[in-house]
Amino acid sequence: MPTNVSGPANLTNWNKSVLFTAARLVFPVDISDIQAGRMVARVQAGVTLLQLHAYLALRGLECSFAPEIGDATVGSLASSTSKDSSLAAPGFFAALVASITFVDEDGELVMLDRAANAAALEDYTSSFSMRGITVELTLVVRPAALIRTVTTSLPTNAALPAALLRLRAEADSMWAAVGLDGAIVEQRWRLPPDSGNFTSAESLVEFYRSYRFNMFSQGRYDQAGTVLPKVAPVHLTHHRYQLVNHYTPVTAEQPRLDFSYFEYPDLLDFERAVAALLRFARGFCDRTGFAPGAFALYFVQRTGRRHARLNYGGPPGWSFVFDPISDDPAEPRWADFCAQLLPLARSLGARLLTSIFLHLLAKDAPAPSGTWQLGAST
Ligand SMILES: Cc1cc2nc3c(=O)[nH]c(=O)nc-3n(C[C@H](O)[C@H](O)[C@H](O)COP(=O)(O)OP(=O)(O)OC[C@H]3O[C@@H](n4cnc5c(N)ncnc54)[C@H](O)[C@@H]3O)c2cc1C
Repeated sequence: MPTNVSGPANLTNWNKSVLFTAARLVFPVDISDIQAGRMVARVQAGVTLLQLHAYLALRGLECSFAPEIGDATVGSLASSTSKDSSLAAPGFFAALVASITFVDEDGELVMLDRAANAAALEDYTSSFSMRGITVELTLVVRPAALIRTVTTSLPTNAALPAALLRLRAEADSMWAAVGLDGAIVEQRWRLPPDSGNFTSAESLVEFYRSYRFNMFSQGRYDQAGTVLPKVAPVHLTHHRYQLVNHYTPVTAEQPRLDFSYFEYPDLLDFERAVAALLRFARGFCDRTGFAPGAFALYFVQRTGRRHARLNYGGPPGWSFVFDPISDDPAEPRWADFCAQLLPLARSLGARLLTSIFLHLLAKDAPAPSGTWQLGAST
């Protein structure tokens, strides 16, 4: 799933009678005030994040969820575990959904509104697309703000986990790529509207965006390891959407991002967990010669609205995501790495993205909810 290669299970090419492409750009966004201080955008499911960001930016607005990939559609993100180290907002897209319209298994059009059907809406947005086909949704949006991003590189050693926590505490939000030799850390601050700041020169923003593109499209942080220290720390003032990239499809043979998914709901255990995971990766590398491209680190704010067994569920608070990433989904040692990491991650309290791990877990898979089968009632 986490790749920009169209897979055979892709819903948009699964059923020829469902023509998503035709819907993509027709009335993509309709913005309306629904109550004082809160705005929602009405968006068709085929609209991509980049299209959404561009549309909102022209109107001085933003969607708080702005991860690296701009090509994901809002329809796919609404019922997945997509995550982002968002600024002053929940770190998963589904939390921004105010209402959703979908076609259910009987071909009926169903509308769920958070105000009236909160539990059913959470259930649908946690379904990994198994409950229906999203047609349209309304999203909470807000006035755009400038962001300050400071990127530094750190050596990977015993002091790194504590250093990562310290850097996060200094900032409003943080993202990092942690490799066995070093880490690239992005600290972000949301600037007040009257701060008098301007965006950095377009050439610098462009340089940084293309550096991120290379790092993500190759599923490795090495590019950062060789290029960034020469210029780091990088200071940028920008709008969040300016660092979102467009990824053209790649062939199955090309290197590309692949990742596994582990959400750790206990931030208090961050240092112990990260140290143990890095120790495991080092040991695996010593034994097999294989190391993941990096671990991608996100901090995700939980809303307290989700069922405890679901990703980002349980009481309001912070989870961290420490995803191993690779540039070669077909590398057998990558599959071994993920399989062997699994028991350790679980012992450290990780919640798994069940859809990705189903093939590894087989009968052992913990069902996050009793309502996942198509047709099951909520
Ligand atoms: C370079 C790169 C960087 C990435 N970075 C991040 C990141 O930082 N954070 C993150 O969370 N993810 C990240 N991802 C993963 C990304 O979120 C997924 O690849 C993305 O969600 C796929 O979106 P898509 O619109 O192409 O969906 P598809 O690949 O078309 O579909 C994904 C799933 O959604 C279903 N689906 C699609 N449309 C609908 C609909 N209308 N209704 C119901 N179900 C639907 C499909 O059936 C499929 O199961 C990254 C991926 C890449 C390639």
